[in-house]
Amino acid sequence: MKKHNYSAGPCILPQEVFEKVAQAVLNFNDSGLSILEISHRSKDFVAVMDEARALSLELLGLEGKGYQALFLQGGASMEFLRVPYNLLKENGKASYLDTGTWASGAIKEAKAFGETVVVASSKEENYNHIPKNFEVPSDADYFHCTSNNTIFGTQMKSFPTTNIPVVCDMSSDIFSRQLDFSKFDLIYAGAQKNMGPAGVTLVVVKEELLGKTGRNIPSILDYEKHIKAESMYNTPAVFAVYTSLLTMQWLKNQGGIPAIEKINEAKAKLLYDEIDRNPLFEGTAVKEDRSNMNATFLLKDESQTETFDKMWKEAGISGLPGHRSVGGYRASMYNALPLESVQVLVDVMKKLEVGS
Ligand code: PLP
Repeated sequence: MKKHNYSAGPCILPQEVFEKVAQAVLNFNDSGLSILEISHRSKDFVAVMDEARALSLELLGLEGKGYQALFLQGGASMEFLRVPYNLLKENGKASYLDTGTWASGAIKEAKAFGETVVVASSKEENYNHIPKNFEVPSDADYFHCTSNNTIFGTQMKSFPTTNIPVVCDMSSDIFSRQLDFSKFDLIYAGAQKNMGPAGVTLVVVKEELLGKTGRNIPSILDYEKHIKAESMYNTPAVFAVYTSLLTMQWLKNQGGIPAIEKINEAKAKLLYDEIDRNPLFEGTAVKEDRSNMNATFLLKDESQTETFDKMWKEAGISGLPGHRSVGGYRASMYNALPLESVQVLVDVMKKLEVGS
């Protein structure tokens, strides 16, 4: 039986994508070669890369709007560094919103690089909410935020309006909800939640933003070099790019982001309603900032932990324990997790209540 996979990563994909990519590992496009062994400069792979780049812009509604899409290596963590390298001017400053572990990781890299202002932080409350009412300095080179905080289960529902470029780490909610993506100047997302296996990061950047720092940027860190090389500056992560393309095709066939957003909202409502209704459980994030991707919650009476853990494991659920910095449970409900899987978890929660 296929498990109901609530893991935060890496790589939660639809079954049909796993099946297609498994076939491509054996024989890609009837070429008699594996996707792992065909030349990345071959016509067939160049077509994969071109389609992946174009489809990512299409899904985000950004085609023809001056953006370039890249599939790069180094994980989202590499973008923590590439962003200041490419956008922070020599005597300029960067501004960041601190909403969790990954946001603070990005801040750390920027600080190592130049003046960095943290406009607000929810660290003191263990990142249980998204700070509001902060001001973005209009003289900063850019503003950086994290749209979804994978570990703490919070999600930004609105984004500041500002005259400076907005950079967003969308690693854990890319392609999950409709936003006006043209409000962002640079979006990056590690593939390994809603897109593909670890090993590739989608970077979508407004081209006019680049080349303005006056810095000499090492080639591998220079977005302009990657754009010029059509995302093939060095050997691309062929397997991860191809798998990401298959997932994006799957998403398009489902009706794109508007269709998946409806399902994601239904999944989140089903689970959060149960967390709020069931007297045995409580959510850890402030309600208005709750994430539709990662729901974090606790059992009020810890002595029930063993029983609950046994019950959800027996129901075929996997990956439910929370991150060590929050404890309790984290139900990650990425695009590939069906609504029926959420019903299975909710039924287990109800059963625990009846039995206690
Ligand atoms: N940003 C967010 C929001 C994440 O959830 C993660 C990992 O889970 C990262 C950044 C780090 O990504 P990577 O491991 O690809 O460097």
